[in-house]
Amino acid sequence: MSNHYWSRFEYDPSKDESQLVPLILALLKSPPQAYDQWRRVLRQYPKPAGGFFSKTEIIAGFRLLSKQHAWGVSEKEFISLVKMKPMRTQSGVTPVTVLTKPYPCPGQCIFCPNDVRMPKSYLADEPGAQRAALNRFDPYAQTWNRLLAFHRMGHDVEKIELIILGGTWSSYPREYQIYFVTRCFEACNDFDPSTDPQAYHPSTADHDDFLALDALSSLAPAEGESLNAYNRAVSQHLRLNHNGRLLAEHESAQWERLEAAHQRNEDIKCRIVGLVIETRPDEITPAEVLHIRRLGATKVQIGVQSMSDEVLAMNRRGHDVDRSRAAIDQLRLAGFKIHAHWMANLHGATVESDIEDFQKLFLDPSIRPDELKLYPCSLIPRTELMSYFESGAWRPYSREELLEVLCATMPEAPLYCRLSRVIRDIPASDIHEGNQESNFREVAEQAMNERGIKLKEIRAREVRLKSVSESEVEYRVHEYETSVSREYFLSYETKDALLGFCRLSIPTVDPITPELADSAMIREVHVYGQSLKLGQDSGSHAQHRGLGRRLCEHAEEIARGHGVSNLAVISAVGTRHYYRRLGFVDGPLYLHRALP
Ligand code: SF4
Repeated sequence: MSNHYWSRFEYDPSKDESQLVPLILALLKSPPQAYDQWRRVLRQYPKPAGGFFSKTEIIAGFRLLSKQHAWGVSEKEFISLVKMKPMRTQSGVTPVTVLTKPYPCPGQCIFCPNDVRMPKSYLADEPGAQRAALNRFDPYAQTWNRLLAFHRMGHDVEKIELIILGGTWSSYPREYQIYFVTRCFEACNDFDPSTDPQAYHPSTADHDDFLALDALSSLAPAEGESLNAYNRAVSQHLRLNHNGRLLAEHESAQWERLEAAHQRNEDIKCRIVGLVIETRPDEITPAEVLHIRRLGATKVQIGVQSMSDEVLAMNRRGHDVDRSRAAIDQLRLAGFKIHAHWMANLHGATVESDIEDFQKLFLDPSIRPDELKLYPCSLIPRTELMSYFESGAWRPYSREELLEVLCATMPEAPLYCRLSRVIRDIPASDIHEGNQESNFREVAEQAMNERGIKLKEIRAREVRLKSVSESEVEYRVHEYETSVSREYFLSYETKDALLGFCRLSIPTVDPITPELADSAMIREVHVYGQSLKLGQDSGSHAQHRGLGRRLCEHAEEIARGHGVSNLAVISAVGTRHYYRRLGFVDGPLYLHRALP
């Protein structure tokens, strides 16, 4: 059985007990408030064999040695003292990102990386990509190891947003999609940090090593090789190793197995409360939308990239703006949260046209996304864009131009939209020329701050770790139209902090499935606060003050006002119980509540 999948953290705290105990006691006695205080304590109690303890090792020591030592604080209290990366889970859920395997993509976008070691559009040096490669893109191993890493860093792993990235999801065979999602659910269902995952994981030795980075590296198309080099190289490699097929025997599952995994997940500790896939607009059809829903997805990342047909054509996107409009209409009618991608600095765009183009995302009633990734185009070696750069037909924006675009576009994102990413985190070594500052969002935010520009978008207003008193909190309603619905963004906010919100859609056109006839739709309920354990006392944090319930009640009242007879909700598998407790009952793809 292949062993390389499983996380390499093999630290045994008992051998360092003599140093760990005084270190933990010192931390408890005077908890460090800043990074340099941390360093000071760590330097005071180095490892017996040299070097300093990592926070993961300290947490492991606390857990193991608590049998022998009365620390005087609970594990939870200790973890909150040493917790790493608190930002990661403060939006309420713990994100687990997994990548599909390298696979041909129907797109021919001139800017798209051709790294054959990765699914299309990803680079092996990107954060997360290395992890996927180490796990040979195995969905079960990726999910388990990520959960384990979060657990070791002291995060709760009870509410998971599963984010499946890689190429174009809809172009992978459906049997692979069902298999991939099933294995992610099964990893969550089986997850127990104290057990050996190999007990649950069948041998995959026959397919894993040819998906290792070094094996894939040998496929790298030569510099300047033609357009479809990625697809050709990856297809050949997969066929060679799968008896002429693109999938291995085991990379296939049936709906029954997925539905069983869904059902088990409802009652398991580690629940999937959101499932995200990414695809192209021209892959979206009513049938595809319902298929994605059946997989359990609740959010779709969709590559709009530009609101100009001319720019889309110049970048060989293979679809026009109307296709993006139609796709978003269908996704919205099916209740999905719409996470659009938009790119600045594409071939054919200018600073001025980009600023105008961005505004169209929100002026156009068929787009108006709930979330947005704003990615300026990066120049990556071995893309077709390189030839445009070399001939002088295109160039990356200067630092000043990029700053101008961000400072003019980011404030245009309305209060119902979350700018979840600005600038893709591409390692500098992969960028041939152009911006290499992956923290450019902060640079832009700082510049806007200095110019007195305030952002309206969601991320800038999230409550994070602030404590707020009930008396400051107000209920607000923001309405807007789309081409297929009247949208309500309901929220609880203070003057400057967003505590939670609900997205309610009242469709104005025919439903996408008979299940949604005469129905309003709750597309999202999100309450901020640290990702606390389900049912755990949250003190002054927002997440457990019943805001979610109250938002649902407001949604119901508004839906009644529109005279619909049913309120539906696009529930993730892990939130089904929550909605059942609110009186919703199961339908084939959604949960429903009759509105007499
Ligand atoms: S559709 Fe996406 S993954 Fe495919 S070539 Fe275009 S950008 Fe790359």
